[in-house]
Amino acid sequence: MILILRKGISTEEVRALKEEIIGKGFIPHVSEGKALTIIGLIGDTTVLNDNSILADDRIERVVRIQEPYKKVNRMFKSENTIVEIGGCKIGGGNFAVMAGPCSVEDRDQMVETALGVKKAGADMLRGGAFKPRTSPYSFQGLGGGGIELLLEAKQATGLPIVTEIMSVKQLEEHYEDIDMIQIGARNMQNFELLKEVGRLDKPVLLKRGMSASIKDFLMSAEYIAAGGNEKIVLCERGIRTFENATRNTLDISAIPVLKRKSHLPVVVDPSHAGGYWWLVEPLALAAVAAGADGLMIEVHRSPKEALCDGEQSLKPERFEELMASIRNLEAFRRRGFSA
Ligand code: PEP
Ligand code: MN
Repeated sequence: MILILRKGISTEEVRALKEEIIGKGFIPHVSEGKALTIIGLIGDTTVLNDNSILADDRIERVVRIQEPYKKVNRMFKSENTIVEIGGCKIGGGNFAVMAGPCSVEDRDQMVETALGVKKAGADMLRGGAFKPRTSPYSFQGLGGGGIELLLEAKQATGLPIVTEIMSVKQLEEHYEDIDMIQIGARNMQNFELLKEVGRLDKPVLLKRGMSASIKDFLMSAEYIAAGGNEKIVLCERGIRTFENATRNTLDISAIPVLKRKSHLPVVVDPSHAGGYWWLVEPLALAAVAAGADGLMIEVHRSPKEALCDGEQSLKPERFEELMASIRNLEAFRRRGFSA
């Protein structure tokens, strides 16, 4: 971190500031120029708050060299993290596809769809029991009963399950039954929930908030890692922009940017990004080409009857075709596009 000091600051003030910095456990490097004096701080500056530093009238500007996240930062761990979810691996060259309905609706729908995605080659099963709906009058999910049906579908297919948890109470009641906890876009900055999830030894799928910057996203991942849980998979699911031809705008650049800044695996959800079933294939393939470690795709046995997100859900047959393209492209990427 570099502190740029107020113009015309006295030597006495600089000396006092230097002493204060040493007192806080940092090593200061003072550089006095003709016009400006700057101080470089050596030490773990992630604990410092830029706003309180700027409240000091001796300091004009703060320039951070290092990102404010540490545990999820690639600077501190160069090798790719591999997250293992009930035998399925994501990251570090391991590619995985999670698929299933937006919400768990009933036993037949869940088990039938689960068998369909398993047959198509999915590695994990998704399904929402607790649904974060925009309208309080929309279907809110089956709750605990939905988790029971997911467990039946897991038993029928052998696929590990990923499902959203929206509150600390739900987490306490259900975390033992779930293979991977999904933190949805709307809860990406529910810091109490992130802290609780951080205390568990359980894989987490953290979805990017719809208006979250990449820095916000990684800071939320840092909340989980700071508690001791580093089994985190990041999920890009589209962000809000001025464009309304699609449900959200898939931020393809987020894939290489996140992978450059962090060692955590990155998966993409083309279903919530595009919002229409016919956008799922091109967006999924674009994500694979851009280096994603996996995909999350909504599949429903009968999309027109779905209680939630039918317009963006694939039928199992179409999903099976897409899986073949995904596997081909992923193998091609693995060999290197120029090979
Ligand atoms: C979901 O995956 O079911 C979901 C609600 O997604 P998001 O949190 O990304 O909107
Ligand atoms: Mn959905």
